[in-house]
Amino acid sequence: MVPTDLKKNKWIPKKNSHILTKTICSTFLLSALNYNSLTEIVDLSQEIYPGMPVFNGIPEVKMNIHATHEEWDKISGSKEQTPSVHKIEMGEHTGTHVDSLSHMDKAYREKSIDKMPLSMFYTEAFCLDFSTKGLNELISAQELEDKCKKARQIIKPGDTVLIYTDHYRRYFGTEQWSNGPGITENAARWLGEQGVSAFGVETMSPGVRKVSNKGVHKICGKLGFTHYENLINLHKLVGRGRFRFIALPLKIRGGTGSPVRAVAVFEDMG
Ligand SMILES: [Zn+2]
Repeated sequence: MVPTDLKKNKWIPKKNSHILTKTICSTFLLSALNYNSLTEIVDLSQEIYPGMPVFNGIPEVKMNIHATHEEWDKISGSKEQTPSVHKIEMGEHTGTHVDSLSHMDKAYREKSIDKMPLSMFYTEAFCLDFSTKGLNELISAQELEDKCKKARQIIKPGDTVLIYTDHYRRYFGTEQWSNGPGITENAARWLGEQGVSAFGVETMSPGVRKVSNKGVHKICGKLGFTHYENLINLHKLVGRGRFRFIALPLKIRGGTGSPVRAVAVFEDMG
């Protein structure tokens, strides 16, 4: 609807008003198209839902309807109950999440998730292809170094390095889900020595369970970097060079980690 004051406005000659409207519309349309064609956002996060897989010993996800629109609007006898608020109970280390340094070892207990710099979660990144790795297979420091060379990438301080193993697409929801490949303690040390902010994996643990996982966590704490677990869609990133990685944690006071909505952003794609 054209505002009354604009209709009355004498400075727009009536016969040309449609041209101005058309120009404004075209400009908006063009900028919207440009925005969409220049930026690609790849979603790297799992869904959160009751019954989803969680790491051994981490609380199961519970999700209930806390309030409904029918209650709010005092509608009685309605068959349909549409949620207006959910109540969710879950561990901090649920689904796609980041660990705080305080999670790694008691020695780093002051470095909780709310105190970690946001710059650690907003970084440049690239993804390495380890999709040939099978269940419980280790990824060594030398293999990481070789893959970086093959991908023509040099790790810069502050980077996030993502490790694609195709474990999610092959094993999510199966009995083998918790038996994914993982990095060795030496590989974690090597990443830390390159000055990464973090690395990220598709599995529920960055190391192989009962082999390197605990050690990898301790090294992350000692060298001051972190990792993301349960990432998805990494196959959409391999071979595409650098991108912007964003995965901001919730500001949980004293938190030992947090679910994140992790994304890879490719800009200037046009
Ligand atoms: Zn972890």
